[in-house]
Amino acid sequence: MPHSAATGRAVLEYLASGVAVIRLGDPQERVVTITAQRIESLHELLQKVRAERPSGLIIAGPGPEMFTAGADINLIRDVTDPALGEKLAREGQMVFDEIANMPFPTIAAISGPCVGGGCEMVLACRYRLISDHKSSQIGLPEIRLGILPGFGGTQRLPRLVGLPKALDIILAGKTLRPKQALACGLVDEIVTVEKLMDRANLIVIGSAAVHRHRISFRDRLLTNTRLGRGMVEKNAAKGIDKETHGFYPAPPAALKCCIYGLENGIEAGLKLEARELGRLIATAESKSLIRLFFLSEASKAIGKAGRKAADAIQAIVVGAGVMGAGIAGILARNDCGVILRDTTDEALSKAGDQIRKYLDQIKHLSDQERSFILNRIELASSPSTNTGNCNFAIEAIFEDLQIKQKILTELAALMPQDAIITTNTSSLSVTEIASAIPAPERVAGMHFFNPVPKMPLVEVISGAKTNDKTLAIVAALATKLGKFPIVVKDVPGFLVNRILAPYLNEAAFLLEQYEISDVDKAATQFGMPMGPLRLLDEVGLDVAMHVQEIMLKGYGERMRGPGHAARLVQLGRKGKKSGAGFYNFEGKDSVPWAELRSALGLQPALTGADLQTISDRLIFALINEAVRCLDDGVAGVPGKEASEQIDLGTVMGMGFPPFRGGLLYYAQRLGPTAVLAKLRELEKLHGARFTPAPGIERRAGSGMGFI
Ligand code: NAD
Repeated sequence: MPHSAATGRAVLEYLASGVAVIRLGDPQERVVTITAQRIESLHELLQKVRAERPSGLIIAGPGPEMFTAGADINLIRDVTDPALGEKLAREGQMVFDEIANMPFPTIAAISGPCVGGGCEMVLACRYRLISDHKSSQIGLPEIRLGILPGFGGTQRLPRLVGLPKALDIILAGKTLRPKQALACGLVDEIVTVEKLMDRANLIVIGSAAVHRHRISFRDRLLTNTRLGRGMVEKNAAKGIDKETHGFYPAPPAALKCCIYGLENGIEAGLKLEARELGRLIATAESKSLIRLFFLSEASKAIGKAGRKAADAIQAIVVGAGVMGAGIAGILARNDCGVILRDTTDEALSKAGDQIRKYLDQIKHLSDQERSFILNRIELASSPSTNTGNCNFAIEAIFEDLQIKQKILTELAALMPQDAIITTNTSSLSVTEIASAIPAPERVAGMHFFNPVPKMPLVEVISGAKTNDKTLAIVAALATKLGKFPIVVKDVPGFLVNRILAPYLNEAAFLLEQYEISDVDKAATQFGMPMGPLRLLDEVGLDVAMHVQEIMLKGYGERMRGPGHAARLVQLGRKGKKSGAGFYNFEGKDSVPWAELRSALGLQPALTGADLQTISDRLIFALINEAVRCLDDGVAGVPGKEASEQIDLGTVMGMGFPPFRGGLLYYAQRLGPTAVLAKLRELEKLHGARFTPAPGIERRAGSGMGFI
């Protein structure tokens, strides 16, 4: 009999064996989050159970698809006072301590996600079982939100699995599948969904034994000796530095808590953990990462109406180049049947190699899974008879309007009338491409970024006639492929390349006064993943020139660069693919080209460059164009939704630093008045390309913001 069934609270029941079961929510709850209310109800039930002294306690979720999704992120977002953060962490820790100190065996019967605070809760149990349900997973992703596990995770996990494995999970914010969790000792057994509760019952009453994972001898030394911990700490600190460049305060804090707890005991460790959580929860970095979390969730909802259709997609990809092969690979990996078409067997064989290489990099796939995925792809060098069975097409041949139109006409004739047809064009008009076929409402742009498996953004381009159903299905497919879609208007450069263009131009202008290395260093010190000149080499200077011509044609003089890239192309320096661009490439190394100044006829560079001056010119060029995009409706009706899409696009599509929360969010923190003042100053020094966008002037005067 349920003791209490109020939504949002834990529920107590008893098995026939007399074992108590605390369910973390009632069956109506699809997502169980750890709220203050739930913690309070858990505390009450634990007190009751403790007094009743059953033979054991099982902690379970409300059903097979949910244990708990962790702390309520709205709650984390709203805490701005470190003292309140610390207090909340202490309260959670105390309730989980009650589980750890029960005078009878406790076991977690996990099925579905068990992450964050949920994982910390089960760490306080004596045993942990996890079901083989496809949604079962366990881990501590807190670092991804700029905080650390604050309910005992940094203390109990190192003791359970050893320091090296615990840091591997905590510092990377990992969530593990059941097999991975079993392998590292985070859970004791994997059980079928049907047998989970029975098995948990048998274990707590002592009728079945658990084979516990033992921490290896090496890891025990690295956890339990000062010397060992010192070695682990040094290595981990080096890894954090390499990964985060000092921009993220959470990983070093989590490392400190893990080590401190092992050296000073769990009580002292828990106190430090709560204090550090309080400090981190109030940081700008955490607030930015939480904002991005909400933006990425919102992006998943864009394709809601198209989810069912996306689950039944049979695709054809035309053009098996770098992009086409990448797209076919991720489609097959995500359960879609694919025809990959090109004109020659040679191109297809190269594409096959590229897809195999991509699958080889996914370490946890078995050989059998790899071959299943490959078998979903039909390579076709002539129109396949199966084209009529496809309901989704992605055209990815080279940039030529007439040939793209011809391909779309062919596809429309062979495929069912309601099939969705998309193009991966990066610089042509989707509306013009679509105009070739009788039903342009089912044509959209599906703009993936290179390299396809790695880059998380997909721009879904709405042509003049594209209908909502098409946009929803394309967005739903992008989500199914693990990408984040944003819906963008069909304008030159779409969103990401349009905002990037003035930034890349500015990098070239900066060369007139500064060295290549200073320009790129200023950007990476701001937090960009690579400098703009290095990025241009990566993209290819010929390709960048082509995009720049389109921008110039579309938007006029403000998109005009100094022409250095064109000069380099004339000299045969097309960037990384030709072994030389702004940099000289040799193997994995790249070195700034020493003769650049003489080759371009540039004055000697300034010595002792001020990197802030450089990064201001780069970043304010980005902000200025982003505000134009916001007000031009490029990412939807100007307002909150558009600014959120722009922020997600800048982080996921161009690597704008996540700890800054997105470009417009960053601009908002500076404030429209300060942005206007800086742009006016830059305009005075460098001319009209820095003339503030009208939307910046308007906002500075009115108190209206960018987000
Ligand atoms: P690519 O040159 O590597 O590949 C194009 C492929 O299309 C070649 O294998 C070619 O043989 C094939 N092809 C040409 N005509 C064909 C036809 N009639 N039928 C079937 N196949 C045909 O090009 P890519 O870099 O993969 O780019 C493809 C598209 O993706 C372009 O529209 C490009 O603008 C866009 N895009 C490229 C990138 C990038 O970084 N490379 C990024 C985003 C979008």
